[in-house]
Amino acid sequence: MAAMRTIGHISYNMRIASAAFLALLLTATAVAPLGAAEIFIAPNGDDANPGSREAPLASLSAAQNLVSPGDTVWIRGGEYPMRESMIAETRRGRAHVVLLNKSGEQERPIRYWAYENEQPVFDFSAVKPRGLRVHAFRVTGSWLHLKGITVTGVQVTITGHTQSICFENAGDRNIFERLTMRDGQAIGFWLGRGSHNLVLNCDACRNHDFTSEGGRGGNVDGFGFHAPKGSVANVFRGCRAWFNSDDGFDFISSGEAVTAENCWSFYNGYSTEFKSLGDGSGFKAGGYARQPESRIPRPIPRHVVRNCLAVGNKAAGFYANHHPGGLDFLHNTAYRNNPNFNMLGRDLQNPERDVAGYGHLLRNNLGFRGRRELTNLDEAASDSASNSFNSSLTITAEDFAGLDEADLVKPREPGGDLPRVPFLRLAAGSDLIDRGVDAGVPFTGAAPDLGAFEFEE
Ligand code: CA
Ligand code: CA
Repeated sequence: MAAMRTIGHISYNMRIASAAFLALLLTATAVAPLGAAEIFIAPNGDDANPGSREAPLASLSAAQNLVSPGDTVWIRGGEYPMRESMIAETRRGRAHVVLLNKSGEQERPIRYWAYENEQPVFDFSAVKPRGLRVHAFRVTGSWLHLKGITVTGVQVTITGHTQSICFENAGDRNIFERLTMRDGQAIGFWLGRGSHNLVLNCDACRNHDFTSEGGRGGNVDGFGFHAPKGSVANVFRGCRAWFNSDDGFDFISSGEAVTAENCWSFYNGYSTEFKSLGDGSGFKAGGYARQPESRIPRPIPRHVVRNCLAVGNKAAGFYANHHPGGLDFLHNTAYRNNPNFNMLGRDLQNPERDVAGYGHLLRNNLGFRGRRELTNLDEAASDSASNSFNSSLTITAEDFAGLDEADLVKPREPGGDLPRVPFLRLAAGSDLIDRGVDAGVPFTGAAPDLGAFEFEE
């Protein structure tokens, strides 16, 4: 009733109401997608700038300080020379250079995206902290989406047992899309922890640690999944790994299962001159080295590798790596590996005793021109119906639309998909078409085909 006593009071209360309304409006603006902020960084930026398109920031860490859930950081193209003074934190012998530790929210991820079709390249070749491992990007935040970033030149400074990493994930619900990890001494992508992460259409190539342990490069994989129990529902999709000094994909020592689908892995274990380096598997899809039975997680993770391509790797195209249980290999194509499929297992109780692999499901896989096609599979203890290596089919070059390996490194499609090339696709008229059985993977025609690519008219 006070508002009715004087004009002044009415005016005062109206001002209160207006302020409250304004605050409400501001809050509404902040949560609405249209109100999400856009922040720019650029090679010629300055962290003292406001981060607008006209006055961009210089660093991702400065951008992270400004972002809120739902915001987008646009990364302009060009070279970003990284320096040791930029190391965000040093912890447990690791130098985390770019540390993304702020989270988005459901429906409101924080995006760190290359601007339009520009190509930002973060060059870590000058970051050589003595005695420290280098983790170029460490991501502990969740609900993040990184897209279109290239990392190159990541260093190893330690000469004993060690490893460096281009992108390390420890968060949940993150998307890593169209990242390139190349020409360094570090592992490309390391999924060390976290659930529901998607690694999509990323490339890891020409990574070789020539510094540690005699320079064999035995730890440098293109993509690694080594997450503990509780890290579920992670997927590698559309990723490509080549000329990494160890393996293309490596899932050793993981507490949960991971899926690799529509991925290509080739020439791993070699230098670009095909000098022999590390292990060289295309897909090393399991294993716990010589860990005792008590250290093997239960249930034993059952990784899924499907619609993948392995070509010309130094060792096996698809490898069970002494896994003490079954794995799913569905609709894969292996060409010129040594061998194409190696299902080697181990005795669960006796880690020193290798046995033929057991419990595996192999369906609609296709091998051609392997040093050998299939080794170390306990067929009685596995389900391996409907694969080229245990069929009566005769496979020749005429079964394929193309065998030109130069196709493997063609540029990706505009949307980021792997290049659509004839290599190892089936030729019209091949008797491998419709020769498979339903393995829960979509197919065209009367039945699934053998191999990674379903024939389309
Ligand atoms: Ca490896
Ligand atoms: Ca078919």
